[in-house]
Amino acid sequence: MSEYFSLTLKEAQKAAREDSAGVLASVRNRAAALNPKINAFVRFDAAKAVSQSGAQGLLLSGIPIAIKDNICIDGWETTCASKILKGHIPPYDAAAVEKIKQAGGVIFAQANMDEFAFGSSSETSAHGPVRNPWDLERVPGGSSGGSAAAVAADMAFAALGSDTGGSIRQPAAFCGVVGLKPTYGLVSRYGLIAFGSSFDQIGPITKTVEDTALMMNILAGHDARDSTSAKMTVPDYTGALQKDMRGLKIGLPKEFFIEGLDPEIEKSVRDAAEIYRKLGAEIRTVSLPHTPHSVAVYYIVAVAEASSNLGRYDGVRYGARMPGKDLKELYFNTRSEGFGAEAKRRILLGTFVLSAGYYDAYYRQGQKVRTLIRDDFQKAFKEVDLILGPTTPTPAFKIGEKTADPIAMYLSDIFTIPANLAGVPALSVPCGFAGGKLPIGLQLMGRPFEETTLLRAGYALEQELQLFKQKPILS
Ligand code: GLN
Repeated sequence: MSEYFSLTLKEAQKAAREDSAGVLASVRNRAAALNPKINAFVRFDAAKAVSQSGAQGLLLSGIPIAIKDNICIDGWETTCASKILKGHIPPYDAAAVEKIKQAGGVIFAQANMDEFAFGSSSETSAHGPVRNPWDLERVPGGSSGGSAAAVAADMAFAALGSDTGGSIRQPAAFCGVVGLKPTYGLVSRYGLIAFGSSFDQIGPITKTVEDTALMMNILAGHDARDSTSAKMTVPDYTGALQKDMRGLKIGLPKEFFIEGLDPEIEKSVRDAAEIYRKLGAEIRTVSLPHTPHSVAVYYIVAVAEASSNLGRYDGVRYGARMPGKDLKELYFNTRSEGFGAEAKRRILLGTFVLSAGYYDAYYRQGQKVRTLIRDDFQKAFKEVDLILGPTTPTPAFKIGEKTADPIAMYLSDIFTIPANLAGVPALSVPCGFAGGKLPIGLQLMGRPFEETTLLRAGYALEQELQLFKQKPILS
């Protein structure tokens, strides 16, 4: 019998009904053995895991799930992988965590990430870099790199990530797993430590599309504690899965097939489009003319929101405190020592674009272009039901390769950022391997709240390619 840890979430549901202690032990031992190599988890607590399992007959009964370290767990130190939040123990669960617990899930580990979710490589963590299970010299992507690496390495059946500009989808693509950024407002942000409040969404990272659908049945839904949470009837996401693509129109945006896109990635994505055509979908070319400005707009608007959100870390109210002779010096010392370089860069940039005299030139202008990008999507979705493109321009890069060049790092989100600016849902699904060994992901984007269509298309491709059966070789 294969080890429990290698099961999908769906398979683990069945296994846990028969042998819940065995399932938990299998994943716990796997995580303990691999974490020193991969550094996917910043904390994991086997004892807590055991004491939580119990309730039977629920969707996630006895199933261990990992949570990104920026999503609050009652009684667990939650730090956003930052020194400044050391010692911060939230007295409440985030809505998403609450829902997982209510479904019987066992919260057993917190996943490593870029500090405050600022990054695309999980190298800015105060806990050291995460390694890609497919090649330990390479990054797993970011910022939810720990979540994606853990799922790829069978250290968890599923993990929660957060996505502000690509942080679920880009690491999912780099690690050969499935990642969904839901429509803005579909999953409650209550208890998610804020980065860019008009972009942030929590979503699942799983081994298969079916597992993502299963997680969405648990996570989606209105929450009065998040003022941007949508009031809507949540569909049955697993019920929407099917292989037939007839009647679906899929658009390939010409702005996503550009110079700089790795040729093997382009080929895999175009091959996938061909599979969709064979399954009955109609494939067209579409245009999202303003999306080439996405990275520029994002690094104005998102850093503005970040600088404002991070203003609260003053050494008085949360986490770490570095003393000083007076209050001002305490603030100064705490923020100087507590934030890493990338966080400081964003606070400075964000404060600059919001400052008097520059607000109109940068922030307001950025918001206007954001609206144009949103309009591009609205227009495209009048013609097609789904937009298909690559998730990333390249496969996973080497650790250290982009750390000295922030712009090069920012450009790795060139294809994921547009969906956050527009608020639309986007799914990354594995579609091949570059050089035969580094995973490639494709991205499907849909109309707001049409996750069912995304999942249906993701599932159809997954059933054709069966890539989830290939695993990184790890001992
Ligand atoms: N990599 C992007 C950034 O650095 C996106 C991060 C995210 O989605 N949290 O901002």
